[in-house]
Amino acid sequence: MTANKTQWMVITDLDGTLLNHDTYDAGAAIPIIRMLNKNSIPIIINTSKTYRETLAIRQELDIHDPFIIENGSCIYLPIEQFSDKPANVIRQDDYWAVILGKPYQVISSAFNAIDTPRSFYTRFSQCTVDEAVELTGLAHASVNHAINREFSEPVKWHDSESALDEFKRQLKMHGLSILQGGRFLHVMGDCGKGRAVEILLRFYKKQFKTIILGDSENDVDMLSVADKSVVVNSPSNHLLSKLITPDIQTQACAPEGWAEAIKLALPGLE
Ligand SMILES: [Mg+2]
Repeated sequence: MTANKTQWMVITDLDGTLLNHDTYDAGAAIPIIRMLNKNSIPIIINTSKTYRETLAIRQELDIHDPFIIENGSCIYLPIEQFSDKPANVIRQDDYWAVILGKPYQVISSAFNAIDTPRSFYTRFSQCTVDEAVELTGLAHASVNHAINREFSEPVKWHDSESALDEFKRQLKMHGLSILQGGRFLHVMGDCGKGRAVEILLRFYKKQFKTIILGDSENDVDMLSVADKSVVVNSPSNHLLSKLITPDIQTQACAPEGWAEAIKLALPGLE
């Protein structure tokens, strides 16, 4: 009997983990992405970004594997990798989409139904292009893809912690969940990055071991299902470090920290 070689899969957050928190640079990660591609190790992007934003980044980084958007709200499986149509999916472009979140319209209606004064927060989807650029540092050309949400609403909070607790309580009564990301609070359906990872793994015939990388609170539930968990140093770590002790904590920020972690997690990789 021959021993099966461990099949690894890399699952990664983008902002502050693979991409630099401020500049969105991925430079130092690119040689490692090439190495993972060469070794047929899937790279699953699991992000709070939208479908359109993620498609553009996958193309730029030469990543072709399934991906998860808007904090676990939807999984996209490339049709060329999953030729038999799985159950309970819909086709979107060249992907099977597995919808786990709530439509944006439902989330928007909940915002209209609660009595938190609108001056207490900024809804990202209601920002102008200039305001969105100011809040994120994204380029004008790509910010529209970030503003047009399908399953979640990023929020900037401007009032007290106690008012925030009440805001969260009211949204929860509408069946929504609220998670802290690197830049925003994210309001969405009852889903998360960790649950989406568990569901994604069921679509593969092979068994994988997972290396999961994140940098902020909304990554906790996926980090907790990892075989090797990695926290990449970033400005959002202070919240995360109270919630989880990762297998690897990088010294460097993204993208160098991401590259450092993969080399530590997969020492034989060439
Ligand atoms: Mg992040």
